[in-house]
Amino acid sequence: MSVTTTGVVGAGLMGRDIAGLLANAGYQVTLVDVDSDALAAARTYHESELADELRAGGIDISGTPADRITYDPNLSALSDAEFVVEAVPERLGLKRDVVETLEDVLAADAVIGTNTSSLTPGDIAAEMSHPERVVLFHFANPALRRDMVEISGDEASDETLETAENVATAIDRKPIRLDQEYRANGLSRLSASIKCAATWELLDAEPAAIDVAATNVGFDRGPLELIDLIGLDVHLATVENLSEVYGDRYAPPAEIQSRMETMVDDGRLGKKSGEGFFEWDDQGCQIPTPEEPHDIQPILAALVNEAHRLVDDGVADQETVNEILKRGGDSEIGPFDLEEMFGREALRETLRTRHDETGGRVYDPVF
Ligand code: NAD
Repeated sequence: MSVTTTGVVGAGLMGRDIAGLLANAGYQVTLVDVDSDALAAARTYHESELADELRAGGIDISGTPADRITYDPNLSALSDAEFVVEAVPERLGLKRDVVETLEDVLAADAVIGTNTSSLTPGDIAAEMSHPERVVLFHFANPALRRDMVEISGDEASDETLETAENVATAIDRKPIRLDQEYRANGLSRLSASIKCAATWELLDAEPAAIDVAATNVGFDRGPLELIDLIGLDVHLATVENLSEVYGDRYAPPAEIQSRMETMVDDGRLGKKSGEGFFEWDDQGCQIPTPEEPHDIQPILAALVNEAHRLVDDGVADQETVNEILKRGGDSEIGPFDLEEMFGREALRETLRTRHDETGGRVYDPVF
């Protein structure tokens, strides 16, 4: 279907940028949030920063995108929207409530995209009369600087998938079609494996030694800085959430888990509280210079291992998995490029050694 009017539910970190991308593509956008402060903050952001942020993301500005966005506290304001993205917090019950209400409010052929990072469109649409209108529409963070939207939906109709791809293309994000829906999609699983391996390496190394080693090999930021950025509380909740399907595959070792829980109890949540693994100030994350960088190979090996799992699970082929990390992680190389660079046998040996030493499932080789 051709789309002209759109909506976004949730005006938080992701929703406000998704609304900005839609508006810049020329769509009318209604942004809905139950929290009037969040709506007001999004409006201020759109009016004062959106154009600069779009430019910084390499996106051409079309007119004044902020003028195409209206703000409303009620889902009923979306009655004319033909394509709606939900970006409310990652709680299954909440997301189900939102899509069920949307089903009553929207026209019968309107499409609902979900930006979920760890659930599936099938889970979220399970109680709807027409689950075929729900599709994964997952952005990488920051959405304006990561040129990708992961799209999937085992129950989504062909029209729904096609509409999602068309909208992704129109908003200047590359649509990445996954062959199957899976908890945590592609990017979030790759990212979970890197962050998890970094927490296992904390048994042997200081945070700075791990993150400096990661940036030395070309990551835009280290895995522990990434956990700080997301928030230790949110990271631990995500690990817990994924344990429902993946067991302890992405879990830190017990000793590091309790260290992180203590940090959360003490209010050291990461960027949002000014301190986590690292200190944060106006200039960003302050990473001290380590005596020497840690060996990065176990973390790279865990990433390559997860890339193989994604292919084995039928989520995507090798080329697509490479593209997901390059676009979603703003990296020049993908996991299968790393495999070529470091050598499959060498990485497998690293996994075997680390798995024998630690028992961490993230190191359990699948290739
Ligand atoms: P956020 O907490 O910054 O924003 C969520 C917003 O939803 C809040 O403003 C909240 O008031 C609003 N909200 C809550 N209940 C609502 C309701 N019933 N109706 C309307 N609005 C409601 O969250 P976020 O980081 O933007 O994440 C949103 C979604 O995007 C989650 O599913 C998350 O997993 C996914 N996601 C997040 C990231 C990330 O890095 N933060 C990346 C990709 C995907």
